[in-house]
Amino acid sequence: MRPVDDALRSADYDVVIVGAGMVGISLALMLAQQAAGWRILLLEARCAAASDSDGHFDARSTALSSSTQRIFQNLDLWQQVQRHTSAIQCIHVSDRGYPGITRITAADADVEALGYVVENDPLNELLERQLACVNIAIRRSSQVSVINVRAGGVELGLTDVGHSLSSKLLIVADGTNSKTALKLGFYTDNHDHKQAAIVANIGLDKAHNGVAYERFTALGPIALLPLTAYRGRPRAALVWSQPSDGAATTMALEDTQFLSTLQSQFGYRLGIFRKIGARASFPLITSLADEQVRRGIALLGNAAHSLHPVAGQGFNLALRDASSLAAIIGRARAAGLDFASTEVLDQYRQAQSADQRRVVALTRGLPAIFASRSPVAIAGRNAALLSMDVMRPLRHRFADFGMGHLGGHPDS
Ligand SMILES: Cc1cc2nc3c(=O)[nH]c(=O)nc-3n(C[C@H](O)[C@H](O)[C@H](O)COP(=O)(O)OP(=O)(O)OC[C@H]3O[C@@H](n4cnc5c(N)ncnc54)[C@H](O)[C@@H]3O)c2cc1C
Repeated sequence: MRPVDDALRSADYDVVIVGAGMVGISLALMLAQQAAGWRILLLEARCAAASDSDGHFDARSTALSSSTQRIFQNLDLWQQVQRHTSAIQCIHVSDRGYPGITRITAADADVEALGYVVENDPLNELLERQLACVNIAIRRSSQVSVINVRAGGVELGLTDVGHSLSSKLLIVADGTNSKTALKLGFYTDNHDHKQAAIVANIGLDKAHNGVAYERFTALGPIALLPLTAYRGRPRAALVWSQPSDGAATTMALEDTQFLSTLQSQFGYRLGIFRKIGARASFPLITSLADEQVRRGIALLGNAAHSLHPVAGQGFNLALRDASSLAAIIGRARAAGLDFASTEVLDQYRQAQSADQRRVVALTRGLPAIFASRSPVAIAGRNAALLSMDVMRPLRHRFADFGMGHLGGHPDS
């Protein structure tokens, strides 16, 4: 990694990425891998890198699809990431109090695993470690205060540096409700689900055997994803989506009350819930920015689209976007073209638009179907679950969606 102050003294960059979250760092690594010799700067508002992952009970988790697996393989990261993952061998979907059950197995999709669950802490740490091995400057505790768009790129004033710097391309990857996108006048329509996702790790007394559970309940759908064991004890990652009011009430419960409520809703397929880690609650919105590129500027990750976590697709989709963007601007640069031009960035938009729209449409519609307790919705859901359990092609399609087999080639 280049010393930051040296890098800032010669203040012209090819690419400045605002936001060193998992998506911003991944894009930087993809560009660093190209032979182009990109001059890249990452700006991050937080002061410290991701915490050390010498292991604790609580970290938040992400389900990685096979498209993400391929992208990490291309970055030579997969072997290390895989060590921290638990493979999903089966997805078990059920409706509390009703007969509909479906099981989608890796065999249905002819794959080794339907996905892999990893805690965000070790994943972040691996990304940061890889970043430290490449020629990319990173500036922490730094935000963009002023942006001027010029003919040859953008000029940026930072909150923590006296002089401005310039970049041919600005990537806005600073997350949901991006401040930087707002400064630039990009507006995103947010669909507020009026729900929150309660997230926590749950200690089990029974092995999960690689099964990811999705269970519809009166309080909202429960996802329990297989995690690596902690000190030899099995664990699962809980994502419990509830209407906002209900989530506030559930969050206020004592740990023991919370666990018994969860147990009564989920049942005993995973045995008795023994332990719960720190809980966190995330308000759920779906957003998709209509405008994602302008000359010299592109939005990426949650700044471009935020998804309901119901299908575990936000990070996976963002990585496919990043992979496509890196490939397109890399090809343009290698051909001696202006990689930050509207034409080149429009190529990226066109390449990813169908993938983004399909995932957003599905994840926007599913929460209402999952949350509904109306008799019609329950009957429809149960019929779908029962028919999926006997119809292999349907299960195959569902598995394909979960694994990120959408739209074009993830690595193209
Ligand atoms: C409960 C939950 C479960 C999820 N589960 C899954 C899953 O299983 N699979 C999946 O694919 N996705 C999942 N997601 C979605 C996934 O977490 C996000 O899509 C992904 O983290 C987005 O990454 P990002 O880098 O775009 O944004 P962020 O992770 O928000 O990173 C943005 C970065 O920008 C920095 N920043 C913010 N403002 C500024 C600024 N002004 N200047 C500089 N830096 C700034 C922030 O500090 C942060 O480091 C889940 C999301 C939630 C809420």
